[in-house]
Amino acid sequence: MQAPSPLCPACNQAAREPAIERYGRYALFACSSCGLHFWDPREMPDARWYEQMYGGRDVTLLPLEPGHEYFLADPLVPRAGDLLDVGCGTGNFLAAARHAGYRLTGTELDRNAARFAQERLGLERVLPLTIAEFAAQHQDEKFDVVTFFEVLEHQSAPVEFLRNVKACLKPRGVIALSVPNRARWLTGPDFLDYPPNHFLRWDAAALKTFLNAQGFEILSLREQPAGILHTAQMINMALRTGMTQNPSAGAPASFRDVMQMAPEQAEAALRTRPRMRQRLMQTLAAIKRAACFPLALALFPYVRMRGFKGTYLYCLARRRN
Ligand SMILES: [Zn+2]
Repeated sequence: MQAPSPLCPACNQAAREPAIERYGRYALFACSSCGLHFWDPREMPDARWYEQMYGGRDVTLLPLEPGHEYFLADPLVPRAGDLLDVGCGTGNFLAAARHAGYRLTGTELDRNAARFAQERLGLERVLPLTIAEFAAQHQDEKFDVVTFFEVLEHQSAPVEFLRNVKACLKPRGVIALSVPNRARWLTGPDFLDYPPNHFLRWDAAALKTFLNAQGFEILSLREQPAGILHTAQMINMALRTGMTQNPSAGAPASFRDVMQMAPEQAEAALRTRPRMRQRLMQTLAAIKRAACFPLALALFPYVRMRGFKGTYLYCLARRRN
């Protein structure tokens, strides 16, 4: 007997069979109803895993991402009040939002990133809580704006996540978010876009359907256009992934392989000092990086003709009820 199709975590309808892609013990399915692509099974890693995988962010102030910039420039965003940023990382967005006049709260599970936000950026209120824990522990606290940039694609249960976000919002409060756009070119080689890092792949239609169904009115939606730089980055990633996937003896584990390891194993893999062979690979990778721009210039007309988007999909929505 065949196993039943997994249910879509956004709309609870059965997925289309067969799976689009398989990766380790995971399978990627397309929802026939809302259009979300999701991996199965979905079990989110613990805080320690994120600390390992996203380590090294706490050295310098990271530049704002396009999603942050779209928010700060969005004329429909309320310009004052209480703002909660879920998964605030090192606090680069919060620091920018401080100048826009909000009273700020952030949540971040990566302790190193949270420490950077507090000590280096002077952000007083960064709490080591999940949104579920925050909502449960701060039931009387309601926000005008809740933001979650590059967070929704990590979720195993997006409906529950959004319900907790909603619990922290004032009536008519707004949410703002960004996710990687599935409509970008060359999603396949994007090694960060795999489980257990990301479980959900959104496009504009699936995101709108989801937010509407969860009681939000879409105020603005913006897809980053594909540019030359983005095209070059995707080519570089494709070439690099191709290289690290080469299973030659002594080659370094690719990031995708490391993501699948148990924490102890991953720690050891990340600690390994580069050997001769690895240094050679790194040199080759640098040459490929330099070669990407002419390639991107040549390929960009094709990317534009096919209607591919850039990486970031931004959305602002208001709570309806
Ligand atoms: Zn669905």
